[in-house]
Amino acid sequence: MSDDLPGSPATAPDGLTAPHAVYEACLERGVLAFQACARCSAAIFPPRGRCSQCGADALTWRASAGRATVYSTTVLTPRDRAAHAVVLVNLDEGYRMMSRIDDSEVAIDERVTVEIAQVDGRALPLFVRNGGDR
Ligand SMILES: [Zn+2]
Repeated sequence: MSDDLPGSPATAPDGLTAPHAVYEACLERGVLAFQACARCSAAIFPPRGRCSQCGADALTWRASAGRATVYSTTVLTPRDRAAHAVVLVNLDEGYRMMSRIDDSEVAIDERVTVEIAQVDGRALPLFVRNGGDR
């Protein structure tokens, strides 16, 4: 197993092998998980069966620290709820994901941290602003 990426090894819950099922089970336990390629060390997200960089199927699970930088943001102002931002964030471990920040003031390059929330009975990785803490 490669130790080139930050993030402690995360173990797949018993009996689960489908990449997205493992990811969701980790979220339910409060862990934002991603995959790392044992051959080329790429950080892989969203979860999949093979490395998107080199094609190897030797992917290991890692627990992300959940610290990220905002890559892009779009403010949505729905008719029936508060304005919020749909964001693309670059996680410190080297992968990018789409998420939501319930704060329309968030800016590109701002530092944010994951906060796993229960939304309609599912665990979702939302982000919060660090408030000036880089
Ligand atoms: Zn690879």
